[in-house]
Amino acid sequence: MTAFPDLAAVEAMDAVDPLRSMRDRFILPEGVIYLDGNSLGAASHGAFSELQAAASKEWGQDLIRAWNTAGWFDMPTELGDRIGRLIGAAPGQTVVCDTTSTNIYKVLHAALAMRPDRSVIVAEGNSFPTDLYMAEGVASTRAGAVLRLEGVDAPSIEELIDDKVAVVLVNHVNYKSGELRDMAALTRKAQAAGALIVWDLCHSAGALPVDLDGANVDFAVGCTYKYINGGPGAPAFIYAATRHLADVQQPLSGWWGHARPFAFEQGYAADAGIRRFLCGTQPILTMRALKGALDDWDNVDMAALRKKSIALTDLFIQLVEARCGAYGLKLESPRNGTKRGSQVSFEHDNAYAIMQALIARGVIGDFRAPATVRFGFTPLYVGFKDVWQAVEILEDIMRTGAWKDARFAVKSAVT
Ligand SMILES: *Cc1c(COP(=O)(O)O)cnc(C)c1O
Repeated sequence: MTAFPDLAAVEAMDAVDPLRSMRDRFILPEGVIYLDGNSLGAASHGAFSELQAAASKEWGQDLIRAWNTAGWFDMPTELGDRIGRLIGAAPGQTVVCDTTSTNIYKVLHAALAMRPDRSVIVAEGNSFPTDLYMAEGVASTRAGAVLRLEGVDAPSIEELIDDKVAVVLVNHVNYKSGELRDMAALTRKAQAAGALIVWDLCHSAGALPVDLDGANVDFAVGCTYKYINGGPGAPAFIYAATRHLADVQQPLSGWWGHARPFAFEQGYAADAGIRRFLCGTQPILTMRALKGALDDWDNVDMAALRKKSIALTDLFIQLVEARCGAYGLKLESPRNGTKRGSQVSFEHDNAYAIMQALIARGVIGDFRAPATVRFGFTPLYVGFKDVWQAVEILEDIMRTGAWKDARFAVKSAVT
């Protein structure tokens, strides 16, 4: 039998965890082991109190005055700069707004327009689908524009990059497998061919250190409701490198992106800075929850976060393989922790029912079609004992066949 850490050993790991105290900032329900922070981050006390203040004091009492008195108008750039610390972006290059899907449209369209003599958008066939759907939408606005997909047109994205490519749209961490790309190397490769690059950080922002400026990235997008814990539907963000700000034109030229929105001029003139990526009025209540969530990040050492993330995911893989090896779960994520985001996925023919059985026992992860059980490990609030207990329950479900219960086969709208 394979040796694996016992309960005392994982409790000892928790005892020396430098991020341990962060857990007290979060509101986690009794009896739940939450391994789905990669889909919806947990709520924090700080996020709730900002939300409460924004609703009762600012909206309730200050009313329209709050746009100035509570700084509502400047929140997209103020919060953008705070996210900048998590993604390696110096101030003035990041803005919080809209959804990731909308932001992909804005940035991809803008990048394509910067390469008028090129017509190819390169993306990944196994990308999170909305990225591809938005790329199709962008391509439809330019005659002759085409998509080239990794896994369809060539096995690797590097082979797709040549002098016809205008822009490469790529995920830093794959949403399903958790595979982590080398940002600096791929950015160099795209730029050496004369292309621009857009990184989607949905599964890396708040999950691991990111260095956009250091890698000389052109553009990036990402969401705040996953590892950053901004709350359901919290607005996303856009990064545009300073060198592009003067010239880049995004297609959704709404009044919030105007240089002088309250001059009510007839013609559009883009803001000189990152605000040009805004379109219309932003969701202030949910932005205030995000502000509270970002307060939680203030003193987090990203290197310590990464170290714990790798230790948590390594432990999970080790325990699942040692204890559940007989039940047909096949590792889908990279085994090497340095090539993995903060999640672990396993394939199984009965993945959906297994995940439903886990959720019924309080272990919340998620299912991704067609056959993946996916577990996210948020280093701020998941501990080593959580990992151990989750595998204990998984082992029980697999050994007893509890997942075969008919109720676990019923599909919900959101998986
Ligand atoms: C979660 C996720 C999105 C989400 O897009 P929304 O517009 O917020 O629904 C987009 N891209 C990737 C890669 C994601 O993981």
